[in-house]
Amino acid sequence: MKKLFAVTIIFFLLIVSALAHDGVNRQDKGPFTLKKLTDDVYVLYGRGGNIGICVTPEGVVVIDDQFADLAPGIAAQIKTISDKPIKFLINTHHHFDHTGGNEFFIKMTTIVAHDNVRKHMLAAPQETIDNQTARIQRLEKQIAEAKDPQSKEVADMKGQIETAKKNVEAARAIKISEVPAPNITFSREMRIYVGGKEIQIFHAKRGHTDGDSIIYFPKEKVAHLGDLFVNRRMPFIDRAHGASTAEWVETLDAVLSRIDPASQVIPGHGDAGTVADLKAFRQYMVDLRAAVKQAIEAGRTREQAVKEIQLPQYSSHIGYAQGLAGNVGIVYDEMKEGK
Ligand SMILES: [Zn+2]
Ligand SMILES: [Zn+2]
Repeated sequence: MKKLFAVTIIFFLLIVSALAHDGVNRQDKGPFTLKKLTDDVYVLYGRGGNIGICVTPEGVVVIDDQFADLAPGIAAQIKTISDKPIKFLINTHHHFDHTGGNEFFIKMTTIVAHDNVRKHMLAAPQETIDNQTARIQRLEKQIAEAKDPQSKEVADMKGQIETAKKNVEAARAIKISEVPAPNITFSREMRIYVGGKEIQIFHAKRGHTDGDSIIYFPKEKVAHLGDLFVNRRMPFIDRAHGASTAEWVETLDAVLSRIDPASQVIPGHGDAGTVADLKAFRQYMVDLRAAVKQAIEAGRTREQAVKEIQLPQYSSHIGYAQGLAGNVGIVYDEMKEGK
């Protein structure tokens, strides 16, 4: 149990930046809100990535599972709509606000995801060791160069070093065989047939990460896009885990060409929406890329681009100012590096 807790903490640290796009903290509200989208498909809002639930006479299919501390509550919410077992749990991608409940649910169900979800989850402890070690070295250098060794800043940095050391220790204690990574993985597409329902799970190109899945219920006309779609808020672009905004647009085009135009679309964060909402998000990506491209062509530095680019048509989005600055920097790097 202690080790699982350590796993939780480590993954949590890893995706702190990913959490920035969560925007609204729904915990104050209790945290769950269950919304029926069709006769058999629901969306469960909580804290972290939105959960999709499909009820069938043979069992329940769940998409994403938020955080470890919420997992028993998620299971209780599912119980209110079906007493059948959970047949499958699908992870849209590896971020811990979407897979944090895996350690709870893996004991009772089979977890399905793209190959790279498993890869990233198994690599996470080593990533933590590397990141935190680099952080310790940076902080030690800053302390050595500090003018006043008695200052509050230096004391703060020493505290941060202690925390980072604890993180490294916890990461070293994790047994990779105990990481609750998906049991079944795929590279392009798979289909699950359960209780008379067809569930399409497919990966198009890179997007939010290099392991995103779209889950589509063709008869019910519901799609869950994970963080490939965030509704009226700023996306997080995880370049460290293979994100690409160029391919993200192509991925969304592949989704739009497959799903029924009348589909309901569950985003990773924000309220379930329509195909029009998804198209609006795609447009944000296109506008963001055009603005950065223009800045690069005008010879602006990364710093200047981050400071200057504004997309006022999106200023009402949750996390706009900080989110846009982050997005501009990442797209700038992507375009400069050509990948
Ligand atoms: Zn997320
Ligand atoms: Zn994410």
